[in-house]
Amino acid sequence: MTRYKCNVCDKGYRSRGELRDHVNYQHIGQTQHKCPVCGKALATRRCITRHVRRAHHGVKEGPRDKICQQCGKAFRDKKGLREHEFIHTGERPLSCEVCGCTFRQSASLYTHKKRVHKIYPPRREVAVVGDTPQEGSKSGTVAPSSAD
Ligand SMILES: [Zn+2]
Ligand SMILES: [Zn+2]
Ligand SMILES: [Zn+2]
Ligand SMILES: [Zn+2]
Repeated sequence: MTRYKCNVCDKGYRSRGELRDHVNYQHIGQTQHKCPVCGKALATRRCITRHVRRAHHGVKEGPRDKICQQCGKAFRDKKGLREHEFIHTGERPLSCEVCGCTFRQSASLYTHKKRVHKIYPPRREVAVVGDTPQEGSKSGTVAPSSAD
């Protein structure tokens, strides 16, 4: 059990070392432990292990928490899931404005236009300095895939 009690906040610890680490970190504001990777000050040696695992090793994984309700496939981003779900709904929300072909995924439409029509969509996010955008002149001829 916890034999060593902090007499400041009454927290219990199993070893004198842990208690000392706690007092140092919480009440004195110093520590002997720091992350070997980023140098962050940590309360105990165990904290280092946990911190390293979380902060430095877990990065790659990324939460795949967007789950398809139909087949259980997991996605990292909402867009991927949404486009995947069209497979189940049969929806083809994207259409080529040249030939009218429909597509489920913006990537497919994009490659279709490139391959079939040799259309390379212009980059629309280029900001030209000193050129004020005209209000109300939104043209209706923009590709539908440019939304969001
Ligand atoms: Zn304490
Ligand atoms: Zn770190
Ligand atoms: Zn699915
Ligand atoms: Zn087309």
